[in-house]
Amino acid sequence: MENNETCIHGGVSPISLLAELHHSQAGSGRHRCPTCAYEQGFNLGSSGNWNSYEQYCNSLTDSEICQIGSTAPSHILSNLGDNQGGTGRHKCTNCAFKQGFEVGVLENGIQDITIEIVSAPSPQENQGNAIITPSKIDFIEKEIRNKHLGLLGELFILKSEIEFLKLNGKDDLANKIRHVSVEIGDGLGFDILSYDLLGNEKKIEVKTTRSDISRPFYLTRNELEVSSKNPRNYYLYRLFDFDSNLKKGKYYVITGDLANSLTLDALVFIAYPKPNNSN
Ligand SMILES: [Zn+2]
Ligand SMILES: [Zn+2]
Repeated sequence: MENNETCIHGGVSPISLLAELHHSQAGSGRHRCPTCAYEQGFNLGSSGNWNSYEQYCNSLTDSEICQIGSTAPSHILSNLGDNQGGTGRHKCTNCAFKQGFEVGVLENGIQDITIEIVSAPSPQENQGNAIITPSKIDFIEKEIRNKHLGLLGELFILKSEIEFLKLNGKDDLANKIRHVSVEIGDGLGFDILSYDLLGNEKKIEVKTTRSDISRPFYLTRNELEVSSKNPRNYYLYRLFDFDSNLKKGKYYVITGDLANSLTLDALVFIAYPKPNNSN
């Protein structure tokens, strides 16, 4: 994947993940290299020895926890190379280790994930779920803000798009697929640039939740506008019942202008004081 950063020790990690890490000046990982921490985490996670990060953490006898709750072993943190430069300068090595580990677990196990494609719910089916209580909103919000879960879902779709094109003899197109939300950033209104078998672009937005098909999901104004401007190329992949530990999930696909296929209800407004035109 492009837009990775290579550190002076030869470790590799995605720049966008490094950029999102919080600062940390504490613990054995202080001023050490988060890129190396990411790579060590990735190597352990993809080793096939652990099914999950939680399982690995429970096996540790020398763990340290950062201020936002990411665990990493002291023996690894204290052996990381020094780092005072790059995107990861003074960033949390615990969090970098955790992210690497979790991506590693997913990449190792992704072949075994069983994902079932289902048809999108009809508008009638959605009517019964129109009442959204505040606690439900909290729950959905937590899931959507769970960037890690979102990344896992994107990685799964990325992998399955590549496999689909290769299976159909389109290796050239498979090699052109880009994980744009990681390589470029969040502002494009979609996560993955893929292709159909004819070589037409597919702008894929992935929405992943652990909860069931009836749950609503968040959409940004930008995502909506990009779908309206590119109705022939826009695909929303809705992953639900997604459980990366049990290696299963389901998804449906909605294409085209999302304003035509979704019932939209605003939860957040951008508000400004009105200009004073009383006179
Ligand atoms: Zn390094
Ligand atoms: Zn941290």
